[in-house]
Amino acid sequence: MEKNKLVLPNKEKKVLLHCCCAPCSGGIIESLLESSIDPTVLFYNPNIHPEKEYEIRKAEIVRFAKKMNIPFVDSDYDQDIWFKRVKGLELEPERGKRCRVCFDIRLERAALFAMEHGFKIFTSNFGISRWKDRHQVNKSGIRAASRYPDLVYWTYNWRQQNGSQRMYETTKHEQFYRQKYCGCIYSLRDADLRSSKERKISDPASKS
Ligand code: SF4
Repeated sequence: MEKNKLVLPNKEKKVLLHCCCAPCSGGIIESLLESSIDPTVLFYNPNIHPEKEYEIRKAEIVRFAKKMNIPFVDSDYDQDIWFKRVKGLELEPERGKRCRVCFDIRLERAALFAMEHGFKIFTSNFGISRWKDRHQVNKSGIRAASRYPDLVYWTYNWRQQNGSQRMYETTKHEQFYRQKYCGCIYSLRDADLRSSKERKISDPASKS
């Protein structure tokens, strides 16, 4: 596959990359390194439920960061904050208001970490997934960056220039664990509902 060089805003050389999971971030990390950009991975995902799933997803990205020899920052699993802020949005669909708040929570933490640790640029892998509204993600990132002077959220479209294809290829060759839902308890509920409907369609005799 053709390798495209990435260029950070203001030609910076290091970036804080908020990662939600290995499949969504593996190809991005490879592309950054190939472009001589130093990524630091920040894992702050109090949305992920249950805790066992959180640990599995974290372990996968830790494993990859080690392999690529890049810094990994393990942030808090403060679910109470997450549940408090999404209260009342439990029935929202994916890409709706709950997701906006969920991106805000995580990117506000990333912006704070960036400011406290001398990063001028930060970004996230969220927008690479076709399940996400990348404009919604970018708006959250820009809002979070605007809290601090001179901090920039990089709105790069990770799906372009074979980004989506690379995501699948890297996931395959690294044999990453592949989750079946976005992350929160509500996305797990919706994924379960979807598969139960699909089961009924493929087996109309089934009553479960
Ligand atoms: S569906 Fe995903 S992005 Fe939306 S609130 Fe749940 S975990 Fe966050």
